[in-house]
Amino acid sequence: MTQDFDIVIVGAGPAGLAAAHAAAEGGRIAVIDDNPLAGGQIWRGGPAQWKDPRAQALWQALEKADNVSFLPGTRVLMQTRPGELLVQDAQQAHTIRYHRLILATGARELLLPFPGWTLPGVTGAGGLQALAKGGYPLQGKRVVVAGSGPLLLAVAATLKERGATIAAIVEQAGLPALAGFAAGLALTPSKALQALRLGATLRGIPYYADSYVSAACGEERLGAVLVQRKGASIGIACDYLACGYGLLPNTELARALGCAIEEGAVKTDPWQHTSAANILCAGEGTGVGGVDLALVEGRIAGLAASGRASEAQVHFGERDKWRGFAARLARVFAPREELRKLAQPDTIVCRCEDVCDSELREHPSWRSAKLHTRCGMGPCQGRICGNATDFLYGWRPDAVRTPISPARAGSIITLEPHKET
Ligand SMILES: Cc1cc2nc3c(=O)[nH]c(=O)nc-3n(C[C@H](O)[C@H](O)[C@H](O)COP(=O)(O)OP(=O)(O)OC[C@H]3O[C@@H](n4cnc5c(N)ncnc54)[C@H](O)[C@@H]3O)c2cc1C
Repeated sequence: MTQDFDIVIVGAGPAGLAAAHAAAEGGRIAVIDDNPLAGGQIWRGGPAQWKDPRAQALWQALEKADNVSFLPGTRVLMQTRPGELLVQDAQQAHTIRYHRLILATGARELLLPFPGWTLPGVTGAGGLQALAKGGYPLQGKRVVVAGSGPLLLAVAATLKERGATIAAIVEQAGLPALAGFAAGLALTPSKALQALRLGATLRGIPYYADSYVSAACGEERLGAVLVQRKGASIGIACDYLACGYGLLPNTELARALGCAIEEGAVKTDPWQHTSAANILCAGEGTGVGGVDLALVEGRIAGLAASGRASEAQVHFGERDKWRGFAARLARVFAPREELRKLAQPDTIVCRCEDVCDSELREHPSWRSAKLHTRCGMGPCQGRICGNATDFLYGWRPDAVRTPISPARAGSIITLEPHKET
């Protein structure tokens, strides 16, 4: 089966929904997302759970638009020929043709290896938040939230709301940098208000700045964490550790489509066009900056893709404001040097294939490590260890292999090779 659309949007998070809304006059539109419900990361849980009025307004408008189709539970696997994507849902694989493609594939957490990080009970910060939003029971559980960035506060607030006891929030950034960041929030009053609200929700919870988790301890599962703080090591008993060192753009699909990447993010022009013909990118794939930046980039991409470039230009000023916020985020919450030394020789770095730090350090590159140790060749296909090895050893992942995520054999077996004309 092949479906034809004028504009196809991959990702139904804030950027994708804003793009679909802005492009709604641009012909037949499809929004594809591999989750069963729209909303992406921040608006996880689907329309019934959304509290942000911007999410509700976008969804209501899109539901009324009869030229917009939402394809949930559908993953884009690869490009079969220019202007055509192979997608897979729970039942089948099929192809989708487009004139313009908007990538709004978001970001993922940077997870760094340390002793004990593979114990049951240790998750990513956003990972545990996503589980909690999906109904995972945390009532009465003691959780340490650690890593870096404002996401830690949002995660702690969600977990507290779901009945967890937050034993501590452990932030690796130093106090002077955090104070500077807080003062800079005056430039973005909505973020300042959000920070005040989170501060009120989390009042009384120990907040350790300039600190990081050096080990997760336990026999069969997590029982405590060791935190490095002011030159000393302190133990905190907990049932869960939710630990993430910020977010990094998801670029696999963009790279597979031949889009240029700059400093780990998809490179775009002022109208969100990538370097590949007819492909635009919006939201955290172009750099991590939060929901407001994702929304305005989505709006610009949607307008540009539907031929309304001058209307798109009206939003450039707002985008600049949020890009300034994104730049401050990146500066303040950049992972510190000590984190590069947390993994011990026997610490697993690639958890899909059980490859330890000592087996990897002897290799000069990602490719060499892959060929000799199978690092990055398991089910996650380097999505977790690729970013970790970049941080730890300075390795850049090489070309993306398609399909970009594990696919059913039946989905790809009937593909005819595309012949260049
Ligand atoms: C785990 C996590 C938790 C977060 N929690 C918060 C929070 O609580 N508060 C906050 O302010 N910010 C949070 N953020 C940051 C938040 O992601 C952004 O601010 C905002 O959601 C970015 O919007 P986006 O549209 O760019 O991407 P996203 O919201 O990430 O949406 C991208 C969508 O694209 C889909 N997708 C990706 N690749 C494919 C493919 N090949 N085929 C089909 N679909 C695909 C994804 O499943 C996802 O639904 C979180 C981020 C992460 C990674």
